[in-house]
Amino acid sequence: MTATATRVLVLNSGSSSVKYQLLDMRDGARLAVGLVERIGEENSRLVHTPLATDGAKRETEGPIADHEAALKAVAAELAADGLGLDSPELAAIGHRVVHGGQEFTAPTVIDDAVLAEIERLVPVAPLHNPANITGIRTAQALRPDLPQVAVFDTAFHTTMPEYAARYAIDTETADAHRIRRYGFHGTSHAYVSRKTAELLGKDPSEVNVIVLHLGNGASASAVAGGRCVDTSMGLTPLEGLVMGTRSGDIDPAVTFHLKRVAGMDEDEVDVLLNKKSGLIGLCGDNDMREIRRRIDEGDERARLAFDVYIHRLKKYIGAYSAVLGRVDAVAFTAGVGENAAPVREAAIAGLEEMGMAVDASLNAVRSDEPRMISPDYARVAVAVVPTDEELEIAQQTYALVNA
Ligand code: ADP
Repeated sequence: MTATATRVLVLNSGSSSVKYQLLDMRDGARLAVGLVERIGEENSRLVHTPLATDGAKRETEGPIADHEAALKAVAAELAADGLGLDSPELAAIGHRVVHGGQEFTAPTVIDDAVLAEIERLVPVAPLHNPANITGIRTAQALRPDLPQVAVFDTAFHTTMPEYAARYAIDTETADAHRIRRYGFHGTSHAYVSRKTAELLGKDPSEVNVIVLHLGNGASASAVAGGRCVDTSMGLTPLEGLVMGTRSGDIDPAVTFHLKRVAGMDEDEVDVLLNKKSGLIGLCGDNDMREIRRRIDEGDERARLAFDVYIHRLKKYIGAYSAVLGRVDAVAFTAGVGENAAPVREAAIAGLEEMGMAVDASLNAVRSDEPRMISPDYARVAVAVVPTDEELEIAQQTYALVNA
């Protein structure tokens, strides 16, 4: 790496999509952002926004066969803005990798051994890790000389004590199949808990925070002095909160019942719980805006879906208050957490005895900045802290290659 290399490309490779951001680490500025979707189909689409130049969005449609073709198309778009992957200013590529198991507790420079280990974790992340591996291999082929860094969704949660990570099932079976609670959204929980401490004017080591990452996928975490001590997602992202399309916590016997009584097979149960449950299963919509609109019109199913969602959220706030013993802040983040004031109001309502309250006028403010929404008298700070997973991946990547 040369002294002038200050840019980091962040890649988030999914099974049929690649999201990317190019950042300048001198100030964290975004130079370009974009995504390629429907890879492998006839109508693939690339949307590229060159923020460093005119910022005018460019969209192209047409077949993009695979991840290699997708990344080459992205490279061509970046080159057209003078931001090509061959630039000496590019310091590294940071990859979001979903599952790092127990092995990866921190961002890691990728070599053959690391790639083999990510591959070994495919059985516990069959939908995600293969796409991440393809993204890494493709990027390596384009710039073999450049450091490539893996930033794991699970890493922040590896500090969970064993009693929080273990399922109470037969130990030999669990260990043989690496069945334990790993947690996800770790990059967001790390970033938001740190930003929350900053908002309170404290060092992360001094504060206990409950982070509520409420997007289409949703998870809660209990962070004590900067370290994760519990999180709501488990072996897979299915456990925990009610989500857009996932059930979250459920009696595992429901799955036997679906097979024995309803005649469904594994794949059907998988699709039911991951894609057809949660808010969409309860009321047919997974977008909180739409659900609020329906509630305003008096729709009973939307109301019930909202109430189930809030009830689960409240249970986790209570559980993590007990796990932490002392809570300094509750931080709302991601699509729903950052935008849906009624969710924040309802989740905290009735928790005054626990020192938690929301001020209605502060809660109504719309902003992209971290902000407090609790009244001055409340013992616990309730905050809205926008997440930025790409910036966090870029910062971790840049710090590692400069270490
Ligand atoms: P993910 O990264 O998990 O796909 P996001 O964090 O982008 O999801 O969150 C997407 C969700 O945020 C949407 O499904 C919608 O429910 C919610 N959302 C986005 N904007 C608003 C808004 N203005 N009001 C309420 N909910 C919103």
